[in-house]
Amino acid sequence: MLEAPEIPLSQKTSESPHRGIILKEMGKKNLWRQYPSEQKARDQVAKGLRHIRGNSTSNSIFIEQRRKQLETEKAKQDLEKVSIIDPLTNMYNRKFLDDDPAAVPPKKGILEREIERMLRDKKDLTVAMLDIDRFKGINDRFGHQIGDEVLKKVAQTVLEHIRSDMGDFAIRYGGEEFLIITPNGLDVAQKMIERIRKKTEQIQFNNDKYPKSITISCGMTNLTTEKGNPKEIAPAMIKRADDALYKSKFEGRNQTTIVVRETDRVKYEKIIPKEV
Ligand code: GH3
Ligand code: MG
Ligand code: MG
Repeated sequence: MLEAPEIPLSQKTSESPHRGIILKEMGKKNLWRQYPSEQKARDQVAKGLRHIRGNSTSNSIFIEQRRKQLETEKAKQDLEKVSIIDPLTNMYNRKFLDDDPAAVPPKKGILEREIERMLRDKKDLTVAMLDIDRFKGINDRFGHQIGDEVLKKVAQTVLEHIRSDMGDFAIRYGGEEFLIITPNGLDVAQKMIERIRKKTEQIQFNNDKYPKSITISCGMTNLTTEKGNPKEIAPAMIKRADDALYKSKFEGRNQTTIVVRETDRVKYEKIIPKEV
C-alpha cells in the first residue's frame, strides 16, 4: 500500500489550494490503495487538480460574465426608470405617456396600453388633467425656486392620494400640469380627484416666503366606448380632459369638471365640490 502524502507534486499543482483537500480526501478514503505505484497516484492527483482548475476557471469566468450581464441589465433598468421619472416631482414624465417608436421594439405609451387593456377587459378607464391655478403669479411673486417647491408639494399631494397599487398613474404632463390615469371607475376617480383638490387647498407653508394658499383646477373624462383604435382614443381622451379643465378655469378655477362622452355628443358636468 502506498503512503499518502509526501508526493512531490509539480510546482504548478502544489500551488493549488485544492491540493491539500485532495490529498486529505484520498487518505481518508484510502484511495491510495487503488494505485499500483506512487507515480500513478501522483498522476491521478495532478489530473484531478487540472480538472478542478479547469472547472473553477471556467466557473469563475462564467460567474464573472453573469455578474457583468446582471450589472448591465440593472444599469439599463435604472436608466430606463430614470428616463421615465421626472426628477422634480417624482412622477412619470411624458416619455412614459407617449409612444416611443424609436425604441427596440417600439414602445406604446401608457395610456394607449391601458386603453387597449380596458377595451379587452370591457372595463372603464378615467383620465384627469390637473393644473395649478395662477402658477405664473406664484413664480413672479415668490420666485422660481419657491415655485418649484410649491410644484413639488402639489405633486407630493397627488402622489399621496393616487393608488399605484390599484393601477393608478400620475404623470407630469407639462410644467404645472399633471395627468392621472385610473382604472378604478369614474365614481372612485371623481372622489380621488376631489380629495386631491381639497388637500391642495389645505396646503400650508406657514412662512411669508411662500404663498398663503394654492389651488388646482381639474378636468376629467372616461373611456365610454367599447371599441376603437387606442392610438386614436388616447389623444381624444386627453383632449376631453383638457377641455374640461379649461371649463373649470373659465368658471372660476379651484374646481373639477367632468366630461362624459355620450356617443355623438359631449356632456359637460360640473362637479359640485363636496366633503370627501
Ligand atoms: P392658470 O390658472 O390659467 O393655469 O394660470 P397659470 O399662471 O398657472 O398658467 P400659465 O400657463 O400662464 O403659467 C404656467 C407657469 O408655470 C409658467 C411657467 O413659468 C411655470 N412653470 C412651468 N414649469 C415650471 C417649473 O418647473 N418650475 C417653476 N417654478 N415654474 C414652472
Ligand atoms: Mg396653471
Ligand atoms: Mg398650465
